[in-house]
Amino acid sequence: HEATPLLEVNNIEVVYNDVILVLRGLSLRVPRGEIVALLGANGAGKSTTLKAVSGLLRSEEGEVTRGEIRFEGERIDGIEPDRIVHRGIFQVMEGRRIVADMTCLENLRLGAFTRSDGEVRRDIDMVYGYFPRLRERTGLAGYLSGGEQQMLAIGRALMARPKLILMDEPSMGLSPLLVKEVFGIVRQLNRDLGITILLVEQNARMALSIASYGYVMEQGKVVLDGTAEALAGNEDVKEFYLGGH
Ligand code: ATP
Repeated sequence: HEATPLLEVNNIEVVYNDVILVLRGLSLRVPRGEIVALLGANGAGKSTTLKAVSGLLRSEEGEVTRGEIRFEGERIDGIEPDRIVHRGIFQVMEGRRIVADMTCLENLRLGAFTRSDGEVRRDIDMVYGYFPRLRERTGLAGYLSGGEQQMLAIGRALMARPKLILMDEPSMGLSPLLVKEVFGIVRQLNRDLGITILLVEQNARMALSIASYGYVMEQGKVVLDGTAEALAGNEDVKEFYLGGH
């Protein structure tokens, strides 16, 4: 591991509404250029961890009350979400959250809101290169299939030219075939564009198949971490997260 990872979460505590303690001393590291998986049961605090990094916790009355989050060595906990996007972090939310009454193209343009360079049009073509189906869909995004909405959500993230994408359950609601397709594209984005990815996933098998390293969370803490191969071969992980086979 490099000396300064791209993202470093040190011993954070997160509280909702001043009372509900959800993260209790969580630490993790995401080295530049890698895909890191964050696994765990429902309610373990995975989404909360991503929102702590992206700053989106604030809109849900959540707060980092202890510890620190560093991106490229600098503190980012407590700064505004749009400043965090400017630094190079983009979160693809669970449930996709595209703007239903805008077209695909308008959604993609929205992803580029932080940019003032002249290459937005070129990047839209780049996104269509990864997701050719989106080019053909000229109607409102709300009418896209679940898989297409997930692709649009990832495409919109790419439009921000992020260094780090935080991905919350990209497989949710997708057929096994589409899950395979989306994960294939995620791996491709990582390889082609060098985008670092912190991936939250219920589908542990899929996540570990593309990640280099993984963390397992329980009740607001990391209880296990290791290389993807080591986790995939771990008996507890097999029993609880890989369906016992
Ligand atoms: P899931 O896969 O179900 O999303 P998760 O591991 O991502 O699970 P979180 O969504 O981070 O877990 O939730 C962790 C805990 O925090 C849960 O007990 C949840 O009820 C609580 N929680 C999440 N959001 C809020 C909120 N806005 N206000 C209060 N409590 C919350």
